[in-house]
Amino acid sequence: MDLRWPDPFSVMRDLLEMSAPSAAAPASDQNSAQPIETSAKTVACNGGGGALGHPVTYYTFGDKPQIDCRYCGQVFVKK
Ligand SMILES: [Zn+2]
Repeated sequence: MDLRWPDPFSVMRDLLEMSAPSAAAPASDQNSAQPIETSAKTVACNGGGGALGHPVTYYTFGDKPQIDCRYCGQVFVKK
């Protein structure tokens, strides 16, 4: 058995994103998405790669304290 099944948490995250694309849900409601802390000015996200990934997208914090990936909802928090 060499099949790689999709991460169920990623599937849930995608479904949530699709059902509420413009909802600004509080971070506390996104139990399946663990924020990634970084001290970098720019972050790159590809959704974790694989079938559920998305093209690598770069985000710059600018003056924002956090970034939500528009594709997969991954949260990046500036340290
Ligand atoms: Zn992403």
